[in-house]
Amino acid sequence: MALLRIIHKCNQDCVFCSYPGKNARNKKHDFNAYCREAAHSKDNLIQISGGEPFLAGAVNLLKLVLCAAKNNKKIEIQTNASLIKDVPLSVLKKLVKAVNLSQGYFNVNLSAADSVMDGKISGVRNIFSDKIKGVKLLLKFGADIRLTYIVCRLNYRQAPEFVEFALKKFPGVKWLQFSFVKAMGKALTKKIVPKYLTASKYIIKAASLCERNKIKCEIDHIPLCMLGAYYRLNVDIGKIVLNKGGLHRKEKTHIQRCLKCKYVNICSGPRKDYLKIYGDL
Ligand code: SF4
Repeated sequence: MALLRIIHKCNQDCVFCSYPGKNARNKKHDFNAYCREAAHSKDNLIQISGGEPFLAGAVNLLKLVLCAAKNNKKIEIQTNASLIKDVPLSVLKKLVKAVNLSQGYFNVNLSAADSVMDGKISGVRNIFSDKIKGVKLLLKFGADIRLTYIVCRLNYRQAPEFVEFALKKFPGVKWLQFSFVKAMGKALTKKIVPKYLTASKYIIKAASLCERNKIKCEIDHIPLCMLGAYYRLNVDIGKIVLNKGGLHRKEKTHIQRCLKCKYVNICSGPRKDYLKIYGDL
């Protein structure tokens, strides 16, 4: 997959933000160049990210998605969804249609089940209801959505509650991902990164709720040995089995105890940045 960061600004200031280019000044956004980059990429999946991509303007986003779709690329738009409510409905409808045409999806970062937690995580108060409106609009127009919950020290206990929340608020949502926080950027600290074991029972509970309610659930950045019977939901397994290259190989490593582990051939091991903080699992 190829990552296109089309804008370097964001309207949030998340506690776990790891993007060093955020709020960089004097960066030009050349959408024709982004389009060429997408078209000529060897990768089939193009992730359109930022900062917050909707700050680049929904029409620019639409042109880029159309260009990539014409070149047979699958699109993932990574967004916090808070600005979608301000997009003219006719443009939003076309954008969803174009993403669907590419067989792509919207990856919405929503890492809280209530407004108070959302304020703590995103660094912006009273933005939670805007995100809910955004997700509902996407669903209304038929978008495929993955809700991504970044699991960090502030919100790991709320992971099961998040599943209940998503079921209640977004009846059309079919796909959730629990992604353990990367110990990078602002999150290179135990204050943000919990121990795997501390968070894992809540992730397991969330996964079991998804299973019971027939929602597709994926788990990323937490080793298989921490996931009990839900180890099979770890997204690295598919990449390893299909022998795909990617960040899972660069960012994770096996440690001594992995050598005796039954999962060693289908697990990438813990993240290197996690080991920087904790030294072991
Ligand atoms: S290979 Fe290592 S990190 Fe992965 S499940 Fe086994 S012990 Fe855990």
